[in-house]
Amino acid sequence: MIMDVRKSLFWADQIARKIIAEQGDKKNYTCASGITPSGVVHIGNFREIITTHLVVKALQDLGKKVRFIYSWDDFDRFRKIPKNLPDQEGFKKYLMMPLSDVPDPWGCHESYARHFESEIEETMPVLGIRPEYIRQSEMYGKCIYANHIKEALEYRRTIIDILNRYRKKNLLSEEWWPVRIYCENCRKDETKVMDWDGGYILSYTCSCGFKGDTDFSKTGNVKLVWRVDWPMRWYYEGVDFEPAGKDHSTPGGSRDTANEIVKAVWKRKPPTHLMYDFIIIKSGGKMSGSEGNVVKVSEVLDVYIPEIVRFLFAGTKPRKEFTISFDEEVIKIYEDFYYTERVFYGSEKVQEKLKNHLVRVYEMSCVDEPEKNMPAQPGFKHCVELINIFRAPEKALERVKEMEKLNKKDLDRYFAVLSRAKAWLERYAPEKYRFELKEKPEDRIVNTLDDKEKTALKELMKKLEEKDYTPDELFTIFYEICEDVSIEPKRFFRAVYLVLLGKEYGPRLAPFIISTGQKKIAEILKHIQF
Ligand SMILES: [Zn+2]
Ligand SMILES: [Zn+2]
Repeated sequence: MIMDVRKSLFWADQIARKIIAEQGDKKNYTCASGITPSGVVHIGNFREIITTHLVVKALQDLGKKVRFIYSWDDFDRFRKIPKNLPDQEGFKKYLMMPLSDVPDPWGCHESYARHFESEIEETMPVLGIRPEYIRQSEMYGKCIYANHIKEALEYRRTIIDILNRYRKKNLLSEEWWPVRIYCENCRKDETKVMDWDGGYILSYTCSCGFKGDTDFSKTGNVKLVWRVDWPMRWYYEGVDFEPAGKDHSTPGGSRDTANEIVKAVWKRKPPTHLMYDFIIIKSGGKMSGSEGNVVKVSEVLDVYIPEIVRFLFAGTKPRKEFTISFDEEVIKIYEDFYYTERVFYGSEKVQEKLKNHLVRVYEMSCVDEPEKNMPAQPGFKHCVELINIFRAPEKALERVKEMEKLNKKDLDRYFAVLSRAKAWLERYAPEKYRFELKEKPEDRIVNTLDDKEKTALKELMKKLEEKDYTPDELFTIFYEICEDVSIEPKRFFRAVYLVLLGKEYGPRLAPFIISTGQKKIAEILKHIQF
């Protein structure tokens, strides 16, 4: 760390200090986050994971030991069949069962819940995020919370009072119970509590006709309702910090009632709160259709390298909505990140306050600790050009190796950006960024060239074979050719693009010719009958 984080104004550092102030100055802290895996865990849901992760890092930078737990609320019921699910009819029979009991519609995982959980668990390490995952189907299934379910039942009237205080209509009656029971016969949550013996036995009836007594210290089929389940787990895990989305953070929302319930039932201070806002997606081409209109974290990683994904979230205060772009804005976002990186390594001078901020944003963006020396900064636009020329990232990388002396880490970053450039060209890039090098100029184009244009192209071919140039030298040569042949530069450039790309325009010509290789361009020009 370059700066004193105790004074940092960076948002996660401020939250870390707030946690210490509110929860007491301790050695160990627990930060929590979680979701119901009812469908794709998308980039908006990811904001909660990374927000917690960055606060965890800020606490660690203050010398604290932190446990980061991520809860899969997969003991929640299967409430709705998502539109993209292949077997709509066949899955109706699983509605109201725990998500952990519903089979995987795609057949690749042990359950519906696992299908969506695995995707996140596999993607997070790429971003350097490694929480401890807790599956509530296991916790409830093994009756680990039995005593706390009993406590909630004992405080049933208190809980009803708290919840009713925030309700204007549909007040909860004395018949209300803070639990849900999965029927032992049909496994569905279509049950009604009839009685409680004051201990661990609940009597219930089910819509399937089943009547039973369940011992929730043994059967593992009883769970607390969400508004009671959440504060119970704060108590059980000793949670000091948990952010929540806008939907939960509204006045009288589950966050407010959870705060009161944890105090009233479990005599514990609520965790420090932080509300985070939504993410907007701005797409270039078509957005992934297979999953409906949501964007997965992995799809963002297809276009942005991991440190930039982190940069996007670290660089925006959680309370602020922001946009993730898939259109040509991608180019600028890479440049913004590289600028921040240069500020961190001191090769870009900015005023002190901004510097402190950007340095901290950069530290938070790194998947591991920052490198000792500044990594290579392959421009996204440049990589797009290389992919246009060489198609495969591996081939483009070979060319990069010929042009620049780079170490292993730099080559890794180059390859990472080249791979993203390829995905971007295939899925999102506007037409003007796409071109294809013609191995042989098309006759229909050559036939339209006049003598002056042909002479200029011939001159260019000769010059390219003479020696290797820098982009600046080559640029000067273009103008010398135009003067010698007395052709307008505009016409000259147009002719070169037409012959090489079949289009009247293209990427900046000198760097393009050098990236492609002068020899290769000369070979193409030789096909013209001068
Ligand atoms: Zn699967
Ligand atoms: Zn039943």
